[in-house]
Amino acid sequence: MSEFNIIQEYFNRPERRYAVPAVLGIGDDCALLDVPAGQQLAVTNDTLVEAVHFLPGSEPEALGYKCLAVNLSDLAAMGARPLWFGLSLTLPACDSDWLASFSRGLFQLADQYDVQLIGGDTTRGPLSIGITAMGLLPQGQGIQRKGAAVGDSIYVSGHLGSAGLGLKMASGEWNKVDSSAALTRFLRPEPRVDLGLALLPFASACIDLSDGLSSDLNHILTASVVGATIHAAEIPMIPDLQSMPQDVAERFALSAGDDYELCFTVPLDRESDCLAVLTELACPVKRIGQIESEPGLRLQRADGSVGGISPSGFDHFGETYHGA
Ligand code: ADP
Ligand code: MG
Repeated sequence: MSEFNIIQEYFNRPERRYAVPAVLGIGDDCALLDVPAGQQLAVTNDTLVEAVHFLPGSEPEALGYKCLAVNLSDLAAMGARPLWFGLSLTLPACDSDWLASFSRGLFQLADQYDVQLIGGDTTRGPLSIGITAMGLLPQGQGIQRKGAAVGDSIYVSGHLGSAGLGLKMASGEWNKVDSSAALTRFLRPEPRVDLGLALLPFASACIDLSDGLSSDLNHILTASVVGATIHAAEIPMIPDLQSMPQDVAERFALSAGDDYELCFTVPLDRESDCLAVLTELACPVKRIGQIESEPGLRLQRADGSVGGISPSGFDHFGETYHGA
């Protein structure tokens, strides 16, 4: 099967109608996009490499879903509406079963949010999937990392640490643990698109949790030139993690990463209006701490003791892998 046939068979879907279609999609040298007056384009790019970001031999349907999910998660963290994406696919061989399954998972999520594949690149080599996702924001808006101010409340969505536990299970490292909730979070993280859109008028800063709370929240603190205290007892975790020793559960929640939940800050005078809007969403949010003037990130335990936590998460060029 030629490169052209792969694209035609698995990725080109001219019959599908989108709410905001590209002016020109797959098939020419470039895609053409119309950015409506008063709006701006939000663009993000994430690559998943076999044996680095996903386990060798990963099930392709979940992989297709996840590689788009991690990109939609970045758009959600800015409060952008996802509309289009490009796909750079590097494949070791042309395996029709793999391609059928991969594209099924990919389009399952794309169709859920009415996001259109508008082009890409197909090459041969070690398995790697790069996606560039694009969305729209009202001109001049977008929830940046640098907006957190002293006194703002810190929230997270969903549950933390589940994907880290799921990775331990999927890799066979922890074969006595059986948590379908954790495995699902690891294999098919749900990008918090609706939450991000709802947060746009309220949040002072936002980031999606790809590397782990301690690392990702630290990006907000550094960019905003502030510090924070978070409360260990408030960090939302699934029961399968809560039943583990506290230090183990905390390590998953703070530094395992891959959860793709949103961490955001809200000014006190916007908090009740914000929460009123968020109660209408399916996704739960939890207040875990507050922004302070003293630099650094601190963790307060149930007994009242407070300790500093250093940012530890996945860093490709860091010296050690800090994952749980
Ligand atoms: P070019 O050589 O001009 O870059 P290609 O032959 O690589 O074009 O691709 C032909 C068309 O197919 C282009 O519109 C490109 O965007 C699209 N395309 C290539 N690979 C993919 C892919 N994996 N998914 C979606 N569209 C793709
Ligand atoms: Mg060309």
